[in-house]
Amino acid sequence: MYSPKYPPTTDKAQFNHLLSTCKDWCLSHGLTVRPPPSFSENPHEALTTHAPVSLYPSLFPRSSFDEARAVQTAYNELYARVSDDTEFLDALTADIAQVDDFIANLHSIQTKIASTEGFAHEFSLGLFRSDYMLHDSGDGTRPIVQQVEFNTIASSFGGLASQVAELHRFLLKSGAYPEDPYLTYSHIPDNPAASGLASGLASAHHAYGPTAIDGIKTAVLFIVQPNERNAFDQHWISYSLLKLGIRSYRCTLTDVPTTCKIDETRNRRLLFHPPHLQAPIEISTIYFRSGYSPDDYPTPAEWSARHLLERSKAIKCPTIATQLAGAKKVQQVLAVDGMLERFLSHTPNKIAAIRGTFAGIHPLDTSPLGLQARKMAFENPERYVLKPQREGGGNNVYREKIPAFLREIGEEKWAGYILMELIKTPVAKGVILRNGEAVEGWVVSELGVYGTILWDREGNVVKNQEAGWLLRTKGRESDEGGVAAGFGCVDGVCLV
Ligand code: ADP
Ligand code: MG
Ligand code: MG
Repeated sequence: MYSPKYPPTTDKAQFNHLLSTCKDWCLSHGLTVRPPPSFSENPHEALTTHAPVSLYPSLFPRSSFDEARAVQTAYNELYARVSDDTEFLDALTADIAQVDDFIANLHSIQTKIASTEGFAHEFSLGLFRSDYMLHDSGDGTRPIVQQVEFNTIASSFGGLASQVAELHRFLLKSGAYPEDPYLTYSHIPDNPAASGLASGLASAHHAYGPTAIDGIKTAVLFIVQPNERNAFDQHWISYSLLKLGIRSYRCTLTDVPTTCKIDETRNRRLLFHPPHLQAPIEISTIYFRSGYSPDDYPTPAEWSARHLLERSKAIKCPTIATQLAGAKKVQQVLAVDGMLERFLSHTPNKIAAIRGTFAGIHPLDTSPLGLQARKMAFENPERYVLKPQREGGGNNVYREKIPAFLREIGEEKWAGYILMELIKTPVAKGVILRNGEAVEGWVVSELGVYGTILWDREGNVVKNQEAGWLLRTKGRESDEGGVAAGFGCVDGVCLV
């Protein structure tokens, strides 16, 4: 949101003081990432740098913020129901699998287990994040939140988002900010994302219950990428878990075969026994912060690892079914008239709230809607973003590049993509800090709302909560907003 007087102006001396205060606070409070290889060598993994952050929290309309948070539990329920609707998910995934090997591999693990021994887990856990941008229709009405996407796996930055709210409140408290009517505590709320996500994991851990008979301890297992630069974001969640008395461990997909074993005699419980532990640990809950991208499976061994984990009795966050439910194709199909009713038939108010956040989103298959969208993609590409079934940022094709891209991949692959109308989000002034340098300019923001949901095999919801938020801000000239992908920064809200 734009205000001509925000952020406040400073002279050079004030600005430099604010900058160094901000950097030092980040470094001393784990608002950090490992440095990119281009920035510094990190031979012993002993170095960190501040995470990309915004110096001032961005102005955001309180009413839109409240709306986005209020709809989260309905979204949680929707995606839990989609995950459990095997017929729906199988049909959609089978279509995509024909043109997308990654989705095909995930789906084949899912169907193999379902059609043979069946699943061993009693509960499923979702730690979700629904992402929105404010959309300005240009007709003078107030901007509304429109959904960019819904993430069902590895929804990141909750840990750093909680820290950034503290950072901005600290800069206010310490007097580093200049006087400004917007910069007050009542405009800059505490963000409970880290503790909220940990509380979701804790509910799964408790639902799993104590270990069977032999007194082995239980814990949560984070599946992580090797050389994760964003590890501190994840550590904040594990520290919050530990405050609740629950231990967690970390393991890459590559290391699963040597550290994890299924105990076939005890309902396929998962035992984790890396060399540094004297005794094995029984894993109650597997939290995937890896496994969402083809790059996470460099060899068949990582695919077998995923299969092993999916077979186990441990509660998966997420199961493959829930991961597939987060495909952009599902988001597009849910936007088709009448589809939400399939999953939330008994609750028209939830359906209306969810539908109110939908942006225009179209298939690119050979259905009548798809054929129409293909025409639009070639005739008016400047209105659209083209998305494959991928996560993690940097995969989309924007505007005028769409026609050439579509021609290049060939018509038989088009059904694997969706075409989405560009959300026209208002620009504002901001100051972004990346790798020690502050850049001032025109920026746009994307709000993510976290949610946690635990449900059982019969579809009974045990716990369903909204769990804090994330604001990411990027230069307006950049199409993508991913922080990890190198485009934006972690920001906080200044509610107006
Ligand atoms: P990913 O799963 O890779 O994060 P997204 O759907 O979130 O994919 O797209 C990545 C980024 O592209 C978003 O963070 C946003 O900045 C931009 N983007 C995506 N969809 C739209 C849209 N409809 N309008 C404007 N920008 C968009
Ligand atoms: Mg995503
Ligand atoms: Mg995204």
